[in-house]
Formats: sequence, structure tokens, C-alpha cells
Amino acid sequence: MTQPGSGPAAGQWDAAVAAIRALGGTDEIQLICHVNPDGDALGSMLGFALALRRLGFTRVRATFPGAFLIPGPYTELPGIDLLVPEEDAFPAPALVLVFDVASESRLGGLAARAVAAPVGIVLDHHASNTGFGTIRLVDPQAAATSVLAEELTRRLGVPLDREIAECFYVALATDTGSFTFDMTTVAVHELAARLIATGIRPGDISRRIFDTRAFGAMKLVGEVLGRAVLEPSAAGGLGLVWTYATLADLERHGQPPYVLDTLIGPVRSVAEADVSMVVKQVGAGEWSVSLRSKGAVDVSRLAVSQGGGGHRLAAGFTGFGEPSDVVDIVRRLLGEFLN
Ligand code: 5GP
Ligand code: MN
Repeated sequence: MTQPGSGPAAGQWDAAVAAIRALGGTDEIQLICHVNPDGDALGSMLGFALALRRLGFTRVRATFPGAFLIPGPYTELPGIDLLVPEEDAFPAPALVLVFDVASESRLGGLAARAVAAPVGIVLDHHASNTGFGTIRLVDPQAAATSVLAEELTRRLGVPLDREIAECFYVALATDTGSFTFDMTTVAVHELAARLIATGIRPGDISRRIFDTRAFGAMKLVGEVLGRAVLEPSAAGGLGLVWTYATLADLERHGQPPYVLDTLIGPVRSVAEADVSMVVKQVGAGEWSVSLRSKGAVDVSRLAVSQGGGGHRLAAGFTGFGEPSDVVDIVRRLLGEFLN
């Protein structure tokens, strides 16, 4: 695990800049973010892909592992034309850059390529980052991976423009919960100010990214929230609230999987529970688990113990069996990871 308080080690920024400057304009550069990408993964990756294009690199591709499903809100991000399905990624690029990926398992079938590349630059902010990559720009204190992507952009001498700024802003707004989470520091607001100064429109972006959904998605969310369970005695009496959603729920409402990623917001708002959880079906007997804590439990350590990862107060892992099996495991582990 990356130690709290430790930003990138001395020399890592200079090494990253030197590695990029050493490339020729037609060298192949592959950018990769995590499976089931969110706003920070896509925003930090596409913003930096655009910065590389501004530097004159002509062969720049971005991708993520697994099904090529781009969550609706992100389909119009600047730089989206640089995004290709996993199978169209460069087979042997000169440089790989990895964004928002806590562990190699989150790279799916692209992990081998990331390791085999002559240079692999890792930009990440997960406390649970496992330490892979040749050049590591990893800072668990950073509010979003885009904080690191913007710093590298600046150190390369690429000025922020509206397109790059929109990508980094979406990433920053996503991972700070629209500038409400604990990591929302003075530096975060200063970065937001620099991004907004390019002329991007935060109101339009917020409406498009966070406040727009299909009627069917709204009905689906209503149904899934309606079956939430509150367990006041869990987590040493601090409380657990959880719900689950199946592939059949998605099908009944005609919705894509990413719609379920918004569920954790209302679930974590429950006053009677410190810990919240959404168990989302991804296959037969396979569930993607989102965990949040208000401070009583280190959910990152809990998730790591189940092969997942994340941050102290927001983490996830893949669970198996029925939803009740996943809930049983988490309920039992909560006591072990109380702060
Ligand atoms: P979310 O619940 O929003 O999907 O994820 C919360 C946090 O946990 C994010 O930082 C995400 O990257 C991380 N996370 C979620 N699922 C997994 C997982 O299966 N493995 C790892 N390593 N991290 C995860
Ligand atoms: Mn992130």
C-alpha cells in the first residue's frame, strides 16, 4: 500500500517529463484507465491525451478493459474520438500511461501490455495502490487523478485550453462529489479556478454529468432504493445500510449498468448508518460492491481484504454468490476494520 502523506517520490515528476520528451512525434502512446470507468478515470485520461496531441504526438490512443460501454454522461467529453475499444489498443506501444488504477487487476486484459511497455507511467490517488509501473505519480492525498494529470500537463509546458480543462473539471467534480468531500482543499478550488478560467461552463457540465437521467433510470433507482435495508446494530452499533440491484432490474427498466453507480449517493446519505453499501450484479453470481463510510470504518482495508481497493471512506470489490452472501461477509468484517 502507498503510505498516507507520501506524494510522488523525488525525481518521479522529472522522470515522467523526460520519458515523454524522449519520444518521437510518431511513437505510439497508449493511455489506459480502469475497468467500468468513472468521471475521474475518463476525464483525467482524455484530458491528458489531448495534452499529448497539443505536444505534437500523432499516435495517441486511450482505452479501458472490458465491454466498450461509455457511461452516457461521458460520451461527449472532449477527446472522446481518441478512445478505442480494448481490442484496438496499440499492441506494443513505446509508452503506456495508466490513470486512476489502484491495482493491475483493474486493467483486465490490458495488464500485461502495461507491464511489458518500455515505460509505464502510473497516475493515481488510491491509498490501496499496489505499486506497479516504472514511473509512479501516485498521491493518496490528491482529490482526483486529474490533479496529477494537470500537474504533469503543466510540467510539460502545455497550456490549459477549454477542451483539456473540461475533461479535468469533470474528473475533479466527480471525485470530490461536486466539491463537497473531505479532500476538497484550497488547492482543489485553486485548480478548479484555473480550469474555469479557460471559459468552460460549470453549470452546463454539472447538469449534463450529474443531473440528467432517463425516466427509466429514475424509476429503477426508486425501486432499488425502496428495497434498502437498515441494520442499526452493525458496525459496532454505528449502523449499516445496504441495497442490491440485479441484471434483471436493469433489463426490466431498459437501462445500462452504469446507471447503478449513482445509487450509492442516496444510500450513503442515511443518517442512521455510518457504513453504506450497494451490491450490483455484473454476471451470474458476481457482484460489484460499492462501500462508503462516514469515518468509523476503513472501507479501503476491508475492500483490499476481499481483493478490491479504494480510499479510506470509499472503496469497492467484487463479491460472489447471492447478495445476502456478500452482505454477510461485509457485516462480519466491519468489526475488524473499525477505526
Ligand atoms: P465505486 O464504489 O464508486 O465504484 O468505487 C469507490 C472507490 O473504490 C473508487 O476509488 C474505485 O476505484 C475503488 N474500487 C471500486 N471497486 C474496486 C475494485 O473492485 N477493485 C479496486 N482495486 N478498487 C475498486
Ligand atoms: Mn479517482
